[in-house]
Amino acid sequence: MKYLSTRNINLEYNASQAILKGLSDDKGLFILNNPESLQIDLEKACNLDYKQLAFEILSKYLNDFSKDQIISCVENAYTNTFTSDDVTPVVKVKDDYILELFHGPTSAFKDVALQILPYLLTTSLKINDSSEEIIILTATSGDTGKAALEGFSDVDNVRIIVFYPKDGVSDVQKKQMLTSSGKNCYVIGVNGNFDDCQRKVKECFVDEELKEIMKQNNQKFSSANSINIGRLIPQIVYYFKAYFDLVNKNEIKLNEKINFSVPTGNFGDILAGYLAKNMGCPIEKLICASNENNVLTDFINTGIYDANRTFNKTNSPSMDIIISSNLERLLYLYCKDDEYVKEMMNDLQVNKKYECNEFMKQQLKQDFFASCTNQIETKQLIKEIYEKENYLLDPHTAVAYKGMLDFRKANINNYKTVVLATASPYKFMDTVLNSISSSKAHEFDMMEECEQLTGVSIPKNLKNLRNKENIHKLNVEIEEMKNAIINILGENHD
Ligand SMILES: *Cc1c(COP(=O)(O)O)cnc(C)c1O
Repeated sequence: MKYLSTRNINLEYNASQAILKGLSDDKGLFILNNPESLQIDLEKACNLDYKQLAFEILSKYLNDFSKDQIISCVENAYTNTFTSDDVTPVVKVKDDYILELFHGPTSAFKDVALQILPYLLTTSLKINDSSEEIIILTATSGDTGKAALEGFSDVDNVRIIVFYPKDGVSDVQKKQMLTSSGKNCYVIGVNGNFDDCQRKVKECFVDEELKEIMKQNNQKFSSANSINIGRLIPQIVYYFKAYFDLVNKNEIKLNEKINFSVPTGNFGDILAGYLAKNMGCPIEKLICASNENNVLTDFINTGIYDANRTFNKTNSPSMDIIISSNLERLLYLYCKDDEYVKEMMNDLQVNKKYECNEFMKQQLKQDFFASCTNQIETKQLIKEIYEKENYLLDPHTAVAYKGMLDFRKANINNYKTVVLATASPYKFMDTVLNSISSSKAHEFDMMEECEQLTGVSIPKNLKNLRNKENIHKLNVEIEEMKNAIINILGENHD
């Protein structure tokens, strides 16, 4: 069992190598050729707790990690780091289910993967007998940044550089990042949008000049974005966990199928759902829920990916993405043809557009249902669900909730549906509070207002945030990102 690049299947890597490299030299993403050969025995796994289940699933993917190494990664990542004992609890809201992924240290679902990725990386260094310093280079639309900074803060032999769109994240998200205190943490604002940041970061990964400098410094890039397979694999766990929770609460019978509705940006979270399905999780449909940046909605419905469209800044900013990187993995798994994937990705780069073949179009329709929601509908739904069900959705979760409602209207199947809740409502306070009442206060005052109004407690990490001092002050133009990296590489922080 080896990892291949989606753009060249002739080079093979072990899991530890794929995790260390992040992105293949040919800009392809690492993927197992046959994830469907890794099956989870539902009856045996049904009663496992989160950490045991994580061990089962990770063991299948991390081919060159020892049993003890995997146990140690899982224990370190999920012991006392999440405020819920279940790590990712499922709550019932009327007749529907919400999988709460936001009980980690930064109140975003990205914590689930980014709490374990640093351990996977440092273990990978050990496995490869490497003394190199890892430079985590990350572009963030808001949530990845802080979750990665939190996960990697003061980890030995790792430096983390986060680029974020200067005007593209919420005040709370910005404050979370700018107050990161780890000595190995660098946070830089970019005068551009998320796609600009991500494109430049990808270029830097394969930049010859940077490579040469890093070789001399005994340094190496890796990624905390969901292009890293080490970030994707841990996300498979909660799909199974949610499924088993429904079984154990007698909401469904073992082997009964369910659907998941996933608020989607870079296609990482929903791809983990697809991999769970591949591994035997009884998932019928994955509902791909988008905001006004609905390139994926059109893609699933037509098989044509067309990035020639305006970028919308929306009230679900973590999904404001036009180039969804992880889709490349799905394309590969559908066609198993690296040359064809390379062709499509080349079309995307040159024409900002590609079309997949008939077989793939059919597959897309079979596995996925697409829905998109505008900003007004998002706010209306937050209000409606709060007033009717007394449950407070964050805007991203509201988009997924709407996806479930659209799916139900389309009358495709009658299986139960689980909505993935990807952030605490307190992370997007402006939108949330102004959906259920009206307030012109500063975001941090709004948190208190919202707590009093709704009785939903402010997560501790957000409550303490306000009085923290900003540590990171640098802003750059897109074209200056590479130079900013060069400066950091040469810095000595011992
Ligand atoms: C990152 C993020 C998403 C999108 O997840 P992808 O894996 O990029 O599709 C959705 N909601 C929130 C709150 C996020 O932070």
